[in-house]
Amino acid sequence: MLELENVETFYGTIQALFGMSLRCDEGQVTTLIGRNGMGKTTTVGSIMGTLESRNGEIRFDGVSIRGKPAYRVAQLGVGLVPEGRQIFPNLNVRENLLATAANYNGSDDPWTLDKVLEFFPRLHERLANQGSQLSGGEQQMLAIGRALMLNPRLLILDEATEGLAPLIRQEIWRRLEQLKQSGLTILLIDKNIDEFAHIADRHFIVEKGQVVWQGDSDALSANAELKARYLGI
Ligand code: ATP
Repeated sequence: MLELENVETFYGTIQALFGMSLRCDEGQVTTLIGRNGMGKTTTVGSIMGTLESRNGEIRFDGVSIRGKPAYRVAQLGVGLVPEGRQIFPNLNVRENLLATAANYNGSDDPWTLDKVLEFFPRLHERLANQGSQLSGGEQQMLAIGRALMLNPRLLILDEATEGLAPLIRQEIWRRLEQLKQSGLTILLIDKNIDEFAHIADRHFIVEKGQVVWQGDSDALSANAELKARYLGI
């Protein structure tokens, strides 16, 4: 569904991606993992078109999206839960969910406000609260709910549980497992893998702007040297 081939992305004259290649297959959970500063968020920006890639190719469902603006990429079916959640602080929960809602790809069972509130009951209780009044966990649920309201075919989550309490983290992973079971294709960006290895099908390890290893969860968990070297676990 998503394919990156030898993508090179720069911040001005500073190169951050040095031939990034990865793929997400339909219905699978793929991860892009690696330590801080290795190029994970830059990869997300390259896919979404918020950062300009100078070389390489990015295809979504066979269509080139390299250089397309973020709103076009979203319309094609890529939903993003960005690093730091980035919810609208001055809008309430209902407004956050409805602000960008759409069904561009004509899903016959689209996500609606009611469906998202059923999926995240905590948001139902907080419906009239402003984004800035929510806890970190509630904000994360809201960010995921907002992305679902775009009825994406691919959901990208950048550091979905960063800074959250263990119980909330578990709840987020459980919800993502449910989304996978419903057939959604997911790309998870994270530093660690232990908590979500069981829902992931394929991992890509990034180091200094390129993928240095790929494989399934069994292969990764069996390779202690790899985890120590590239993930610091
Ligand atoms: P983190 O988890 O800390 O966000 P990451 O793997 O997502 O790490 P990136 O944020 O993609 O890493 O950063 C990749 C490289 O690009 C790093 O060397 C970083 O210093 C550099 N970089 C990121 N943002 C900028 C920027 N705005 N200007 C210049 N260099 C940047």
